[in-house]
Amino acid sequence: MQGRALLRSEAHALLEGAAADMGGALQLAQLLGWLRLSGAVAAEHGRRRRECRCRRCGSGEAHMHRTPCAACGRMCAYCSACLTMGRSRECELLVLGMPAQPLEAGSASADLHKWQLSPAQAAATESALQFIEAPTFPYQPHQNKEFLLWAVTGAGKTEMIFPLVESVLSRGGRALIATPRRDVVIELDPRIRRAFPQARVVTLYGGSEQRWEAGDITLATTHQLMRFHQAFDLVIIDELDAFPYHGDPILHYAADKSRAPHAPKLLLSATPPTELQRRVKSGQLPHARVPVRYHRNPLPVPVLLRTPPVAKLLQTRKIPRALLAALNHSLNRGAQLFIFVQRISQVEPMAKLLRALLKQSAVEGTSSQDPDRADKVSRFRKSKIRVLVTTTILERGVTIPRSDVYILDADGRLFDEASLVQMAGRAGRSGDDPNGFVYFCGRERTGAQAAAVSQIRGMNRIARKRGYLLPEEQANSWRWSKLFKRSN
Ligand SMILES: [Zn+2]
Ligand SMILES: [Zn+2]
Repeated sequence: MQGRALLRSEAHALLEGAAADMGGALQLAQLLGWLRLSGAVAAEHGRRRRECRCRRCGSGEAHMHRTPCAACGRMCAYCSACLTMGRSRECELLVLGMPAQPLEAGSASADLHKWQLSPAQAAATESALQFIEAPTFPYQPHQNKEFLLWAVTGAGKTEMIFPLVESVLSRGGRALIATPRRDVVIELDPRIRRAFPQARVVTLYGGSEQRWEAGDITLATTHQLMRFHQAFDLVIIDELDAFPYHGDPILHYAADKSRAPHAPKLLLSATPPTELQRRVKSGQLPHARVPVRYHRNPLPVPVLLRTPPVAKLLQTRKIPRALLAALNHSLNRGAQLFIFVQRISQVEPMAKLLRALLKQSAVEGTSSQDPDRADKVSRFRKSKIRVLVTTTILERGVTIPRSDVYILDADGRLFDEASLVQMAGRAGRSGDDPNGFVYFCGRERTGAQAAAVSQIRGMNRIARKRGYLLPEEQANSWRWSKLFKRSN
């Protein structure tokens, strides 16, 4: 039970068969100081009215519902905010395991060579290691211990996690890697197992079979963190700006609750939310930047193309000459194209229009409402689809070696700075084609576009200053040699 926060029924499932009288066993364990029992929903101290808070997800009175309860026979409050994880209510027990023991400080003697990191990755990992290995001071119980690893799209974040996890494991601790996205958890699983063949790895998401296992390394969706209490000596949150973690107070509460006392929290993002960027600028948030991709070429800087709104293009069935020329240039250079639009309803009509105007049959459209999305993404990955019209649903996660990116209605309200940087980040991912093209198409240049361009330029500038880029000539000659090879 160490490090768990479980409802009574979940505790029974975990301890399955450990005792005939499970209730008695839990009570005895509490008396012996092995765990703590509390109400899952409990009245808040110091409140005059009967106001309740959910001890599992931290939600307050706004999420409480009171219904006649068959179990306790009164009007009993339950929490609607975390209902998908089982009902947390006033007459239900929450069983809290004891917190993990604090870890010894690290020796900062990690061997980074074996992980084959680029110079930029290694420098940032080094700072993060120093941060997580620093001794903790028990007399500062509320110190926040947060560190931001701000790594551009395609920087190779996962490899940078490895030495950090290793540092915690070598000191006998447990590490957690959590992300809001289930597909990322599933994709990470084999890579972590390969990197740490000796470690017990537990992967948790809705429907996962390892629900009650304890591991040295836990991979989980952020929702699963509600079931932990002071369990992990290192908490890493990947893609912290992805939905639904961003702006969801419950998941932030759960992530903080899952750390052992004094355990560090490491945030990973290519596009940190404004609030974090502000804390970086004002020096309140320790951080390290990885301003360059693993292949050491600068990020493609978006080109602004003035075009009418998509609705107008669809209505007139015409595309401005400059845009058409760019699209044809991309196709001729052998690239695959991401075309982003704002509305799901525009996806299919735009795909149809492009199929006709580009005289290209391998044009498809997909969105969150498309039942064939997985199939289309897989055909896009296999280059069977040349042009894919889509929405922000594909702003992350899909990597195509040779691709150009077109963001239509880039001045629309649904595309913010983070989303523009993520979409632009689809281009130039591979060392074979590091200089893809990105176009912001719209009627005007918005603040979000300007901020996205300045973020990208800023990272390129830092990369150049620190000497992380391939020397210009080298990058060019490399590009020419590739072109030459292809024309043969
Ligand atoms: Zn709750
Ligand atoms: Zn009840």
